[in-house]
Amino acid sequence: MSDKATNAHKDEFAPPALRGFEPAEFTKTIDSLTQWAMRYMDSLQDRDVSQAIEPGQIGAMLPDEPPREGMEAQQWDQVIEDIEQIVEPGLMHWQSPRFFAYFPCSSSMPGVMGEFVASVLNVNGMLWSTSPSVTEIEMKMMDWCAQMFGLPDVFRFDCDLGGGGCIQGTASEAAVAALVAARKKKVKSGRDRSTMTVYTSTQAHSSILKAAMITGLADDPEDQSRVRLIGVDKHLRMDADALMQAIREDIAAGLTPCLVSTTQGTTSTGAFDPLKAIGEELAKLPEADRPWLHVDAAWAGAAAVCEENRFVLDGVEAADSLCINPHKWLLTNFDCDLFWVRDRKALTDSMSITPAYLRNAESESGAVIDYRDWHVPLGRRMRALKLWFVIRYFGIDGLKEHIRHHIELAKVVEAFVHAEPRLSMATDRSLGLVCFRVIGESELTERLIERVNDRRRVMISHTVVPIMDEGNRPESIFDRWVARVAVGASGVRRKDIDELIVEISAALDEVIQ
Ligand SMILES: *Cc1c(COP(=O)(O)O)cnc(C)c1O
Repeated sequence: MSDKATNAHKDEFAPPALRGFEPAEFTKTIDSLTQWAMRYMDSLQDRDVSQAIEPGQIGAMLPDEPPREGMEAQQWDQVIEDIEQIVEPGLMHWQSPRFFAYFPCSSSMPGVMGEFVASVLNVNGMLWSTSPSVTEIEMKMMDWCAQMFGLPDVFRFDCDLGGGGCIQGTASEAAVAALVAARKKKVKSGRDRSTMTVYTSTQAHSSILKAAMITGLADDPEDQSRVRLIGVDKHLRMDADALMQAIREDIAAGLTPCLVSTTQGTTSTGAFDPLKAIGEELAKLPEADRPWLHVDAAWAGAAAVCEENRFVLDGVEAADSLCINPHKWLLTNFDCDLFWVRDRKALTDSMSITPAYLRNAESESGAVIDYRDWHVPLGRRMRALKLWFVIRYFGIDGLKEHIRHHIELAKVVEAFVHAEPRLSMATDRSLGLVCFRVIGESELTERLIERVNDRRRVMISHTVVPIMDEGNRPESIFDRWVARVAVGASGVRRKDIDELIVEISAALDEVIQ
């Protein structure tokens, strides 16, 4: 109370928004939140990865109407209690060391600090001039990361070859940006908007199709009038010959191949499209017919921080754009997708609009980068901070250790699958991802995954992909259920892998009597 009174004294019209930011109260509140954070993170060691929740159960715990009166900062404990009683029960604990589902959602102390600082500053870096630090630190981080991943010079601002990068929220937004830029480039060269076609593999992430839907190239996921889903080989890699054939047929039919998107580390099984071969083939096309080459390395790209994993980006020198998500596998809290382009002018051409109220001398001079021209939103927060904190805290060496640790643990899972006569690898292990299935009917794998996850000690996920029969006969490729174990939780240790193996074995005993 006294703080409020003094404040009122100093300034009769003290803004309500400042309430609670008085040093003593804010420190106390942050302190109790820190205590909660420690409790939560500690509890992940023991608690199940998720809980059974009925639809509507969490929402029902909140009042139906917003409160008329606010609260005092001293009552923050009530909020923390609600975090524990209402929020936590409805979570799938992505930070649990026994979370092996989907792809990881990486987190770390410096990542959390970066989010904290960014929200305290809470600036909008839409233009260089609206906060030069936002743009310049982000540009530097993009260049740092380009070096860390061994990218060609063309993608770096500091090499001044016309390229550069920015942080997008997600790989899905990067796909939209790439497609819009690719289309604009074709339109500028005189092609009709209505003739554009897009190519990706049947194994590509749904975000590529979604980008086609958003940009009006597809009406729905089934609409393949202008989207070509190219077939894959037995390793689930895009068939480069089929791709080139589709492109040539479309050119002959008067269409405009606009964008090819390869996936380096597919979401289903971690397969790598033959990027190098595709780049070489595309280079043989006359320039006017050549589509934009986008590379989606959302998950696997992070592994390129280690020299021994640079194969994941093999052929990237031919790419027009590339995305990697440090929020998946590089200890940087969600959201953080790195998006690089070879020709930044091609990108900004497609998205730049300058209404009078955004005109400013620095932008007009062309001496600065205005990131609002690089993506869909105008406003942008300072996401580069968390990346900066993560890289300086761990160093390149620490990030390498992080990736290698996970790959070593994935090898333990792989060895278990090889040694377990009832299981077989569905595809070769890809970095930290192990895909396997129960030998026999596809449905056995479906049941195994269900059992494992129903027990809730560990969490794995599934996919359905065309897999060859044990007989290795190409004519026996069918869609089959596959279990995915993605090793990548920030705090995962060997003992968690041991527990995973115990859980899978127990579920196997239930599924196969
Ligand atoms: C996860 C993933 C995406 C989508 O990621 P968002 O950043 O959530 O949009 C795209 N492509 C691949 C290969 C992925 O694994």
